Amino acid sequence: MDLSQISLEQAANLLRQRSLSAVELTRFFLERIAIANPTLNAFITVDEEGALAAARRADERLARGEATPLTGIPLAVKDLFCTKGLRTTCASRMLQAFCPPYESTVTRRLKEAGAVVLGKTNMDEFAMGSSNETSFFGPVRNPWDTTRTPGGSSGGSAAAVAAGLCLAAIGTDTGGSIRQPAAMTGITGLKPTYGRVSRYGMIAFASSLDQAGPMTHSIADAALLLHAMAGHDPLDSTSIDSPVPDYRDELTANLKPLRIGIPAEYFAEGLSDSVRKAVEQAIVTFQELGATCLPLSLPCTPYAIPTYYVIAPAEASSNLARYDGVRFGHRCDNPQDLRDMYARSRSEGFGAEVKRRIMLGTYVLSSGYYDAYYRKAQKVRRLIADDFQAAFTQVDLLLTPTAPETAFRIGEKDQDPVRMYLSDIFTINVNLAGLPGLSLPCGFDEHNLPIGLQLIGRPLQEGTLLAAGHAFQQATDWHLRRPS
Ligand code: GLN
Repeated sequence: MDLSQISLEQAANLLRQRSLSAVELTRFFLERIAIANPTLNAFITVDEEGALAAARRADERLARGEATPLTGIPLAVKDLFCTKGLRTTCASRMLQAFCPPYESTVTRRLKEAGAVVLGKTNMDEFAMGSSNETSFFGPVRNPWDTTRTPGGSSGGSAAAVAAGLCLAAIGTDTGGSIRQPAAMTGITGLKPTYGRVSRYGMIAFASSLDQAGPMTHSIADAALLLHAMAGHDPLDSTSIDSPVPDYRDELTANLKPLRIGIPAEYFAEGLSDSVRKAVEQAIVTFQELGATCLPLSLPCTPYAIPTYYVIAPAEASSNLARYDGVRFGHRCDNPQDLRDMYARSRSEGFGAEVKRRIMLGTYVLSSGYYDAYYRKAQKVRRLIADDFQAAFTQVDLLLTPTAPETAFRIGEKDQDPVRMYLSDIFTINVNLAGLPGLSLPCGFDEHNLPIGLQLIGRPLQEGTLLAAGHAFQQATDWHLRRPS
């Protein structure tokens, strides 16, 4: 059996039957990483020693019959989750040598369930980007075509899953960073409802938008991981105190005929023909599965990108003020005085995109511009959320393309920020409204590059999203294709 092709569920069964040990499985993926990572650059840090130690503990737990479905499962973690004692860089020179003294809630929960963390994946610097090209550690290459980006910002996690370097990965999504790279690498990615998963120990980009989620081959695997990650956390005051369903049970439970809304604004100019065709075909599949699809409108959609690029940089400029060279992170050599230390440490530590966002953010928050930009953006954000709320009085789910085009070439857009920002035109609205969004594979274009479709649900209705996605994956095989 080719272990690089199996699902998390299948691996968990093999481990429980003891036909495979967690150490064997971990070694298998460490070897694959050693071979593929020099080309793909998906991992910033590989923790061979830590992974093997965790695998040995998992084997003991399996032997005692105390395993969870994640015990012994090798995962990759985006390099912005603080991992105690393991370098966490956020793909920035600023944190190049940062070793967190504490553990994020997401990684703590996964480790407590027995998961094995293989290493930390590459990403856009501080999660700012849509192509993984802003990483201080260099771009990630898309395993479907190594001249192309895997999308971003969770591009390392996406490439690692797509290339079979781990069984699943964890990413974060502020404006699309789980869903867009999932679409561009042919995998499944879920951004949960804002507050469903704790942000404690996730290095902050835009705190009112950031959310962690699973990146997997199948919906069933995403359900398993989300169950382990989600839930209230006293360490994150924005985490929601509501019970976590067993999402695996929800995959098949009460699948009543769904009403799916198709928002016209997501099929307008700028959408590539191949993506449009594949998504329209997916709509037909959902209809064959018994869903009723109805056209509707989300009129505020065109304001999402400008609204996001006021709010997200505003929050980022505030969050990134802590990197001052004093307590942790990069500090310049021989500062003349305090001001010089601040200025040079930050100039040297941050890359161009991060600086652009800090400047944008401080500008829109400055007195005199606050009302014109920041306050206005907050009002538009409310209107965008209201659009969705109105839609959900008519339908259970919305179906859209995840991204307007398939994976683009490395270097194609990195000199044109506005073009790059448009990559998230279909995902950003969902973050502004705090809703759950799921991307799953629905076809390939003429260059054999994967295409993703997005399902958007009501707050805390991840179960409905996953059930619909699961039904689609039972009827199609797009999620089973692998890059050669
Ligand atoms: N591409 C968007 C940005 O650059 C979203 C990134 C994200 O979701 N982290 O801000």
